[in-house]
Amino acid sequence: MVVAFPRHPCGCASLVVHPFGSNRLPSPAVTQTPGGQTQVGEQAEPARTPSIAAFRHEACLAHDTGTGIFEAGPSPLIEVPEQHPENADLLRNLYAALDRGPLAAQVQWREAPRAGDDELLTVHTAEHIAAVDALASVDEVVCVTGETWASAATPLAARHSAGAALAAADAAAAREAPLALAMTRPPGHHCAPGTIDGYCFYSNAALAAQRLRDLGAARVAVVDWDVHHGNGTEACFWGRGDVLSVSVHMDHGAWGHSHRQTGLVTDRGDGAGYGANLNVPLPFGAGDRAYAAAFGEVVVPALEAFRPEAIVCAQGVDASQFDPNGRMCVSMAGFHQIGSAVGEAARDLGIEALAVTREGGYARTYSALCHLACLLGLLGRPLELDDPLAYLPDDGDAHMPYVAAARAALGLS
Ligand SMILES: [Zn+2]
Repeated sequence: MVVAFPRHPCGCASLVVHPFGSNRLPSPAVTQTPGGQTQVGEQAEPARTPSIAAFRHEACLAHDTGTGIFEAGPSPLIEVPEQHPENADLLRNLYAALDRGPLAAQVQWREAPRAGDDELLTVHTAEHIAAVDALASVDEVVCVTGETWASAATPLAARHSAGAALAAADAAAAREAPLALAMTRPPGHHCAPGTIDGYCFYSNAALAAQRLRDLGAARVAVVDWDVHHGNGTEACFWGRGDVLSVSVHMDHGAWGHSHRQTGLVTDRGDGAGYGANLNVPLPFGAGDRAYAAAFGEVVVPALEAFRPEAIVCAQGVDASQFDPNGRMCVSMAGFHQIGSAVGEAARDLGIEALAVTREGGYARTYSALCHLACLLGLLGRPLELDDPLAYLPDDGDAHMPYVAAARAALGLS
């Protein structure tokens, strides 16, 4: 079946043969009430088309990262340890929030497939895949890098997490829903082609972006708003001009041998990829105002200039004001604003469906609500949720020189 990617006025859209059909979105005449009833107008196409295709798998809950002092592992000094920050409870709360919140009537859960070697090889090295698979033989929770822990269940979880991202890309390419979500763990955006890093074993967003390229999108953008630099995605596309890698993150610099990338605003890519990497570091303490400026003044103009035919959102919510792993102050309103900016930019570009991967976000309860806020924004819906913790003051103007530097890197005044 032949499906056309959105045609840009320059006529650059390409035609692709897509194996998964072309279920079109409902026409604007089809709406769903908060109670889930479908209202069909005169020009209705088939009703009950899901607004959100969401991929998950039970194997992702079995990925055991252990307990200790946060991500530092056990200590004899501690009587009651914490869970590792990247744990299965985050997913359980996210699933509950999706099933019980304002998107419940729109979510269609699907089982995430297991990514095969041939699919993983589109981004990763054979040695990397073998190294992840080898973790299946460990008999306890082991430390892989300074902060990344794994168990025997990790390789299968990682393959289903990668498979969810690939399936989300397929669903987005086929316009099966305006949002196609990989709601899985482990996350992926720190993982380079040959390096496990930052709780990540496969580069899920990069795999989705490459899949969209392979399905015919001439240019793909990855927009990453996890509080940490998307160094893995950056590494996957550093020398390529066909994938725009955008990362808005806390100005944390490099960490350790597995994460040498700095996330600096001056890191624009290399060779054919020069200009297709965009880092927007923000100062510690940045909140809703800073992120609104970063997206409105830098990210959206960058997308308009690059004119992607598909977008992958690397949706991290660890910039929240209550995240133990970030030092930022974004509220649910701020995340909704981020989603709104990206969703509106995509629609302006003629992109009908977005693929979304789940990245960080480690406040056990608040993260789920922040994910919902992002998704409502991406859909162009109002926030529709109260923020139970929206009482902290926002940041001041510390972000302004950072945003100015990012605009200068883009060649904007
Ligand atoms: Zn993060």
